[in-house]
Amino acid sequence: MSVLVVGSIALDTVKTPIAEKADLLGGSASYAAVSASFFSKVNLVGVVGEDFPKKHVDYFASRNIDLAGLQTVPGKTFRWSGEYHWDLNTRDTRSVELNVFEHFTPTLATGYASSPCVLLANIAPGLQHHVLDQMEKPRFVIADTMDLWINIAKPELLSLLKRVDMIILNDGEARQLTGLTSLIKAGRAIQAMGPKYVAVKKGEHGCLLFAKEGFFSCAAYPLEDINDPTGAGDTFAGGLAGYLASGDHWTISFENLRRAVVYGSVLASFNVEAFSLERMRTLTRREIDDRYQMFKLMSQFEVID
Ligand code: AMP
Repeated sequence: MSVLVVGSIALDTVKTPIAEKADLLGGSASYAAVSASFFSKVNLVGVVGEDFPKKHVDYFASRNIDLAGLQTVPGKTFRWSGEYHWDLNTRDTRSVELNVFEHFTPTLATGYASSPCVLLANIAPGLQHHVLDQMEKPRFVIADTMDLWINIAKPELLSLLKRVDMIILNDGEARQLTGLTSLIKAGRAIQAMGPKYVAVKKGEHGCLLFAKEGFFSCAAYPLEDINDPTGAGDTFAGGLAGYLASGDHWTISFENLRRAVVYGSVLASFNVEAFSLERMRTLTRREIDDRYQMFKLMSQFEVID
């Protein structure tokens, strides 16, 4: 099964307390597509400018990512720059240059409209709607978002929630969207806004999954060294979507969703080990499955009878 991924493709400049690196491959769709590609074929929808290095396009192609939906247009690629604080959980956006993204109208390449699984990675909700409008009855639609859209495009985001099966957002965004301080109440309140499933990411403290069938809490992997948290959320979403669409796992059951949340967490935990998508380049399926087992061992406990 294939996953259609739409989102930003960027050149990022990232500053952490340890290092600063410029012109890195970034963007929500880049992280999500590469992460999903560990499990499924990916149809990528995005836009870059003429300055986008060919080596990045070649890397996407090497990952079983179909690039018929990648538009290259005159102008400069979307650029984002962020600076992390000492705890690496908080960051300031230093600059955003929309460039070719400003006039981006995602048009689906031939065959893309029938992709069974859709991941609307973080972009303006209006563009997420536009992609959904072109899809032919997808079986499962996942959307990611960010604080910016809650601030400036809330009506579009609220109408999107009625069209998706699952929404992924972080703890701060869940509180901001609902005005509730309790994440449990916020998760349930967001479910009531439309999506059957709500994943609330809590950074280095794991993730909560709200479903009609029940509730699941996934721990975060106890990493000793985090070098660049950029794209952790997008990588999580991509791993989750890719796993759900892969092989025999296509049934949307609470069991498979729990596994998908753990695989998403595994992928995100690898991604933050290095800047940009560098860790993804060497990552193997064996390493992914070994860490998945570690997640399982880490969360198991004996019942007292
Ligand atoms: P995350 O760390 O998961 O929030 O994602 C970081 C990525 O999101 C970076 O690679 C940025 O290029 C990209 N990004 C930042 N701002 C935006 C935006 N307004 N729309 C789309 N992508 C963005």
